[in-house]
Order: sequence, then C-alpha cells, then structure tokens
Amino acid sequence: MKRALEQRLSAVEGFRDPSAALEQYPTPADIAAHLLHLADLHGDVAGRTVADLGTGTGMLALGAATRNPERVLAVERDPDALAVARENETRVDPGVRVDWLLGDATRPPLSRVDTVVMNPPFGAQRGQRHADRAFLAAAAELADVSYSIHNAGSKAFVESFAADRGGELTHAFAAEFDVDRQFEFHTSERETLDVEAFRVEWATRRSPG
Ligand code: SAH
Repeated sequence: MKRALEQRLSAVEGFRDPSAALEQYPTPADIAAHLLHLADLHGDVAGRTVADLGTGTGMLALGAATRNPERVLAVERDPDALAVARENETRVDPGVRVDWLLGDATRPPLSRVDTVVMNPPFGAQRGQRHADRAFLAAAAELADVSYSIHNAGSKAFVESFAADRGGELTHAFAAEFDVDRQFEFHTSERETLDVEAFRVEWATRRSPG
C-alpha cells in the first residue's frame, strides 16, 4: 500500500519558481507516503476531515485524498504554488478531490478538522529558529491530531510545545529529505536535509468526554 501510494505521488510536480523566503521545499514522495501510511494506520485519514497547512504544490493533501477521507482542505499563501497543486490533482488521479484555499495557514480560514498534515517552513533560511511554531499553534487550535515534518533535532521543542497545551507527542520518525538544487545558495546538485516527523495528539483528543 505504501509503495503504491509513493508511486502515485511521484507524479506530483514541485514549485516552478521556488521562493527561498517562503522556504518552498517540496516533500519527496517517499516521505509523504510514509507519513500518510502511518496516519492511515492510526485511523486519522479515512473518513476524517484533513487539513494540509502550507500545502505548496499539494503533496501531502493529495496523498491524504487518496485514502478515502471525508474531506481534504489545503491552505497555501502562494497562488503560483496553488495553481500547480490544482494541476497535480489530475496528475495523481482524476478521482481525488481537494479543496484548495488561498490564505495564511497560521490563521487558517477553517473551522475544526480531525487531522492536520503539514510540512511547514522550518525557519532555517532566515536564521529564525522555529518558524514552524506558528504552524504548530494553528494545528493545536484546529485539530485533534497532527503529523508534521521539522528539522532534525526538533523533538524536544515539539514535545514541550505539545505538553504546554495539554497534548502529547506520540510517534516520531526520522528521514532524509532530498532537495534538488533549486536556490542559488545551494552549492551541490542535490542536498539532503535531515528531518523528523511527529504525530501529536492535541488536548481536544486527550480530554475525557
Ligand atoms: N507542504 C508542501 C510544501 C512545503 S514548503 C509539501 O510538503 O510539499 C512550505 C510551504 O509553506 C510553501 O509552499 C510556502 O509557500 C508555504 N507557506 C509558508 N508560510 C505560509 C503561510 N503563512 N501560510 C500559508 N502557506 C505558507
């Protein structure tokens, strides 16, 4: 199942003109398939409402959409990326459906959802640590559970961020994130980023009744 999903997601195209300021790094198909497979095993996708915050060209939203969700909403602030995401919908499968929303994912134009999936900006570029904080805060507000990709070494930060809000980090996995040379400051053809992905149960899921 995971291989089949990775195969399907390999049709997803990345950014045409990636913005370094917006940290536009597309998630590789293998990592997206791994994350969504894990989410599906936990019962967090099928029959659920899923939101992808900072969807870029749609990789995580489209992957979720193949797993029989109730609905998938994807928020992105860059209209050019969203245009590619819409095209990717037909590349992956004419049958999948995502609602694409142009807007600020840290103040998402959404009411509650069951599950958030996201690969937010890491804050590596502007030397600004934890630009992902605002995305985690949005996930905490919106969802029962979230799956998010961060810089390697972010576990303690995410763990305490969740604990401060009555939530809990329940699963973690590490991955190597291959990025094609896309920005001038990259010196080699291919760079590898060490990343970690986390599953967090937020307080709404954990409070009794
Ligand atoms: N989630 C995609 C893209 C990752 S790159 C994938 O997995 O392939 C991070 C994305 O977040 C970029 O597309 C960037 O434009 C978007 N982004 C950054 N800040 C944002 C904000 N405040 N609101 C919405 N999108 C934002």
